[in-house]
Amino acid sequence: MNVPRLIDGKAAAAQVLFQVRKDVDSLREQDIQPALAVILVGSDPASQVYVRNKILRAEEVGIRSVEHRLSLDTSTEQLLNLIATLNTDRSINGILLQLPLPAHIDELRALEAIAPGKDVDGFHSENVGGLSQGRTVLAPCTPSGCLYLLEQTCGDLRGKHAVVIGRSNIVGKPMAALLLKADCSVTVLHSRSPDPQALCRQADIVIAAVGRPRLIDASWLKPGAVVIDVGINRIEDDGRSRLVGDVDFDNALPHVSAITPVPGGVGPMTIAFLMKNTVTAALMQQQAQRSQSEALCRSIY
Ligand code: NAP
Repeated sequence: MNVPRLIDGKAAAAQVLFQVRKDVDSLREQDIQPALAVILVGSDPASQVYVRNKILRAEEVGIRSVEHRLSLDTSTEQLLNLIATLNTDRSINGILLQLPLPAHIDELRALEAIAPGKDVDGFHSENVGGLSQGRTVLAPCTPSGCLYLLEQTCGDLRGKHAVVIGRSNIVGKPMAALLLKADCSVTVLHSRSPDPQALCRQADIVIAAVGRPRLIDASWLKPGAVVIDVGINRIEDDGRSRLVGDVDFDNALPHVSAITPVPGGVGPMTIAFLMKNTVTAALMQQQAQRSQSEALCRSIY
């Protein structure tokens, strides 16, 4: 077998962001300044770090970011009012609601309140449904990033057998939908799947999105499989706190043809695709406004 390839998420994210920057520049030449509104409710430390990183990345690629920090005691109604205002604000192209929300807020109602065309996380049911129908919609950022890495690594994905481990709404299910759209044969495993190792060993491509540190080792993998590790798990190792994936990297490495590390694999792709979705949303809104103006002209003349 060839030497296993390390899939470099940082380099791939830089490629995506380079293209985003070019798209932002070309929109600015048409007097359109792409803008992302980020809503954070409460002061969860991890969420604050995520929000700060997203805002920094937006600035780097020329996307204007508008931060809305709401207090922990914000009600669902107050949050819905802010979302409604942002939905109608034509200077805002994308709305990101940082999750998790405090327990008293109705998360589903809040996500469903975001206009589908501004839903840069791809969590609105209209986008979820569109993705499962194979339409081009704003798709969730992490699975979109995984698909990009797979296309870079494997080239043509048609006919490959992909096993997705995990069926969450934010990673596993949209990942499966994107892989089906790319003409893979897809198996989705979850906590109730009997003998997941045996099913996983049939896969050309494995996407691990479980949230269990180092669950997947070589015994789960077909020799030469391509492995994308979405998991981010903090563990104590020799008295040191560090991040590991759902895949036992050292154990799996000699067995695979390519694998993402944790950190430095999927993580950077998520923010890159958030920026890409914001620019895509701006382009879609520009297109919709043009179509409306053309329809108006046709009705007048
Ligand atoms: P989640 O909502 O907790 O879902 C985990 C999934 O794994 C569930 O579908 C669960 O099955 C399944 N599962 C649990 N134990 C299993 C087992 N032993 N065998 C097979 N399946 C099993 O997690 P998530 O939000 O999808 O996130 C998954 C991981 O990805 C986490 O570590 C998270 O931190 C990470 N993540 C990373 C990024 C990034 O940017 N890199 C983004 C999002 C998430 P059931 O449905 O039956 O319970």
